[in-house]
Amino acid sequence: MPTYNFSAGPGVLPAPVLEEVRSQLLSYKDSGVSIVEMSHRSQAFMEVVRELEHRLRRLMDIPDTYAVLFLQGGATLQFSMVPMNLRESGRFAYLDSGTWSKKAIQDASRFGDVVIAGSSASSNYDTIPNWAGQIQDVDYLHITLNNTIEGTRYTTLPETDVPLVADVSSNILAEAIDVRRYGLLYAGAQKNIGPAGLTIVLIRRDLIIARDLPSYLAYSEHVDTLLNTPSTFSIYVAERVLAWIEAEGGVAEMERRNRLKSDRLYGALDASPLFRPLVTDTTCRSLTNIPFTTGNKETDETFRLYAEARGLIELGGHRSVGGLRASLYNAMPLEGVEWLVDAMHEFEQEGHDVSYKNV
Ligand SMILES: *Cc1c(COP(=O)(O)O)cnc(C)c1O
Repeated sequence: MPTYNFSAGPGVLPAPVLEEVRSQLLSYKDSGVSIVEMSHRSQAFMEVVRELEHRLRRLMDIPDTYAVLFLQGGATLQFSMVPMNLRESGRFAYLDSGTWSKKAIQDASRFGDVVIAGSSASSNYDTIPNWAGQIQDVDYLHITLNNTIEGTRYTTLPETDVPLVADVSSNILAEAIDVRRYGLLYAGAQKNIGPAGLTIVLIRRDLIIARDLPSYLAYSEHVDTLLNTPSTFSIYVAERVLAWIEAEGGVAEMERRNRLKSDRLYGALDASPLFRPLVTDTTCRSLTNIPFTTGNKETDETFRLYAEARGLIELGGHRSVGGLRASLYNAMPLEGVEWLVDAMHEFEQEGHDVSYKNV
């Protein structure tokens, strides 16, 4: 029986990449040493870093006017590096679309005044916030492009003259992102790119200003160089994952597959007598993270265990939302979703109480 991993992060990686990593782990390209015991300044490793950047630039169509930084500290460190580095007036605008936005707002408020330009908190973040008109007189506007926990995503972007900053941790390389619309994009690697430990920042070069900050915390210290020892294993695997994406047809093909997978699951949820999706607004449903429920905590948990026994693992919802959640990152095959939908149908037919639907 195959195992399908629906984890929200660290998430599923392509099996052929993991096979390759295993085969290379003791002796990288017949060098007699492992990639994880090489100097990060060695020719072999620097080649990996260069390839990672080239592949990312090709896959996302990143112009030369943007720098690509390979950092650590996760998306969470970007919650403070962004305001520290982009601070001019000390006023920052945020759209509040869920748990990760709230955390970004909390950290930013240590460095200036946060203006909440819109929030969907009142509907429990089941949709994307509305914003009013042009957002002006702030250093930047921050959005969380895909809300990993709540399962929503932006399909239109706010019009603004200030740099748009986006947390793309859970949808980078899963769908087309027009880099030129943004001043800065950041993502932890562990959702869709590789093992945890690598954080990718794309920043428009004119926004990189030398700051009186501790060296690691200044973007200017990381431009076109490795300031210190990066997470070498994560970088190595990420480069291989990007090679896999390119061989499979690039981001457009990933998006096509992710639409197919999410449509399949949403179709089943919308038609189910037992399960229902938490995001009913069809204009802002995430392609990668799909929260759902039976409306009853015990039934949700029974189904989670039922699915787990069928090799469908990590379907528990985030602890702040509860219920169930399926994350359908690039490496999740359509078969995994078919198996999940089949398990849902069998579970329904086994006569689990359907009276909870829509309570
Ligand atoms: C997972 C996630 C984070 C947190 O990432 P870390 O790398 O653990 O700091 C932040 N934002 C979004 C949208 C996420 O999905």
